[in-house]
Amino acid sequence: MLDDKNQGLPARFDPQVLAECNLALTGQVSVAAMSRLKHAAVSIRSDAEIDLNFSRGSVGHCKVDGEIICTVGLRCDRCLDELEVCLRPIVKLILIQDHAANLGQTESYDLYEYSGKNIKLTEFVEDELLLAFPLAPKHKEISLCNQDVVAWLATCCRPEDNTRNPFAKLRY
Ligand SMILES: [Zn+2]
Repeated sequence: MLDDKNQGLPARFDPQVLAECNLALTGQVSVAAMSRLKHAAVSIRSDAEIDLNFSRGSVGHCKVDGEIICTVGLRCDRCLDELEVCLRPIVKLILIQDHAANLGQTESYDLYEYSGKNIKLTEFVEDELLLAFPLAPKHKEISLCNQDVVAWLATCCRPEDNTRNPFAKLRY
């Protein structure tokens, strides 16, 4: 786990070639080189499991359908302790090189624009994982939070205590 080799997967891929042959990229992608992911999370607890299936869309464009799974540690918005979050973005993308391309009806697919011939697999997976971050991660139940912080919050945020509310003066 967490080594820098992607087992059996290419470092870069040409989506056009994969789509032409209806190929899939399936396996484990190392998170070792994903510096943006490392910066955004408190910890990274697994490599990324990917299952990406390439095909041609109705007007010949390149589609990818699949899923990525990676477990990270994030800071709880309520108690600030670390909590484990399984990022599981569903991938439904149309990969394009020219933003002005005529794609016809794109259904529920998002667009992923790339330049050059190939896409770096690590960067592609990292992009999708970053988009799957929850906006305000929290422990599922308040009982799972750090109880010292929960007790402290209960003493300083009593709803009847309007004098501590900076907006209390604004009331008529
Ligand atoms: Zn918490």
